[in-house]
Amino acid sequence: MRPFEATKKYFQRAADQLGLAESFRTYLITPRRELQVQIPVEMDNGQLRSLIGYRVQHNRARGPMKGGLRYHPEVDLDEVRSLASLMTWKTAVVNIPYGGAKGGIAIDVSKVSVRELERITRKFVDEIHEMIGPDTDIPAPDMGTDHRVMAWIMDQYDKYHGFNPGVVTGKPVEYYGIPGREEATGRGVGLLTLKLLGRLGRKTAGARIAIQGFGNVGTHTAKFLAEAECKVVAVSDSTGGYFRADGIEVAKALRYAIEHDRLLRDYQEADRITNEELLELDVDVLIPAAIGGVITVDNARKIKAPVIVEGANGPVLPGADDVLDKEGRILLPDILANAGGVTVSYFEWAQNRQFYRWNLDRVRQELDKTLSTAFEETWEMSRNRNVSLRTAAFMLGIDRVARAATLGGIS
Ligand code: NAD
Repeated sequence: MRPFEATKKYFQRAADQLGLAESFRTYLITPRRELQVQIPVEMDNGQLRSLIGYRVQHNRARGPMKGGLRYHPEVDLDEVRSLASLMTWKTAVVNIPYGGAKGGIAIDVSKVSVRELERITRKFVDEIHEMIGPDTDIPAPDMGTDHRVMAWIMDQYDKYHGFNPGVVTGKPVEYYGIPGREEATGRGVGLLTLKLLGRLGRKTAGARIAIQGFGNVGTHTAKFLAEAECKVVAVSDSTGGYFRADGIEVAKALRYAIEHDRLLRDYQEADRITNEELLELDVDVLIPAAIGGVITVDNARKIKAPVIVEGANGPVLPGADDVLDKEGRILLPDILANAGGVTVSYFEWAQNRQFYRWNLDRVRQELDKTLSTAFEETWEMSRNRNVSLRTAAFMLGIDRVARAATLGGIS
C-alpha cells in the first residue's frame, strides 16, 4: 500500500466517526498545491547530475503550512503527499497555528559530500523560494537533513527575499535556532511514552524498551527514556539491530555512533539481531523511529510488545493497525507521538519573529505542556468515543481543521 493511501484510510476512519460529508472529505484530504522540480547539480568530480525534488502544501486553514524536508533515495511524490497531510493533522492535534506541508529530494546523503549537499540544497531553494516563506510555508529537518541544511536554506532564501530567519526552523542554535529543537522530537516521544504507561497503570522504572532507528529521533528517545530509568534493551539503524538484556548503555552507543558516521556498525557491547527481530522482541514498549511501513499485516501478529509508540511517520500500515488493535495492543500514533519537533519548531519561529531569545528550560516546559494537553485530549476522545488513540487523534486534528476551514470560508 502506498503511503498516501494508508494516510487516507486513517483519515476516513476518523471522518466516519465525525460524520463528515463526502464532498468535505475530498476537500480536506486533497493537497492544496504540489510542486515537482528538477535540480541539476555539478558534482565534485565535474559530472552533471539531475535530481528530483518535491514540495507539497496540504492545507493552510489553521496557519502557514509547516513540514520537514526529507533527503532519502525512496522519496517520491506519493510519500511527500502523505507526509504533508500528516503534518496538517499533527499541527492541529497539538493545537499550534499551522497548516501542513512536506518536501524532499530523492537522494542518498551518505553518497554525497558536504559541499555537494550544500549545492543541492541551494539549487532546490532556487526552485522553491517563491513557494516558501515565513507566512506561507516553513520547512524543517526530517530524515537525511539537519541544522546545517536549514542554515543553507535560510541563507539562500535571504538572497531572493532579504533577511528572514522565520522561513525555516531547526537551524543551528548559534544561527537563529532555538535550544532544545534537536532533542525535541525524541524528548516528546519519550515523554509521551511515560505518560501512556502511567495512564495504563504500568510501571515506567525498568520498563523494557526497543527502539528502531538511531538517528535524531531514536537517539534522543533512547537518551530520555534511559534517564527516566527505563531499560533500553535494543536499538537499531540501517546496519541492523543491537540487543542487550541488561540494557544498552545509551551514552556509550551514542558516542560510538558519533565516531562512526552516525552508525552502530560493528558495535561490540551488544548482541547482533536483525531489524525484523527487533520489532518482534518481547518488550514492554516498541518504538519504531526510523522509516515508514515497517509493521505490515505480515509481521503484525509477531509483534509481542503490548505498547507501540510511533516515533517515525507512518511505521504501521492500516492492515497491521487493525491486527494490533484487535489483539488489544495500545498504539500511540505518529501525529501525536512525534509532534514534539514541530512544536519546538513553532517556538523557534515565534522567537525569530519576535527577536526574543528563549532558554532551554522554557522550551522544555512549554513543550511538555503542549504535548501533555494534546495527550490528555486524545486520551479523553478515545475513551469517550470508544475508538483507538489513532482514530481519536485524527478526529481531534480533522475537527480543528474543518472548523477553521468553515469559519474562514472555503469557496
Ligand atoms: P535520521 O536520518 O536522523 O535517522 C534515521 C535512522 O533510521 C538512522 O539511524 C538510520 O540508520 C535508520 N534507518 C534507516 N533505514 C533503516 C531501516 N531500513 N531499518 C532500520 N533503521 C533504518 O531521521 P530522523 O530525523 O530520526 O527521522 C526518523 C523518523 O522520524 C522519520 O520517519 C521522520 O519522518 C520522523 N520524524 C522526524 C522528526 C525530526 O524532528 N527529525 C520529527 C517528526 C518525525
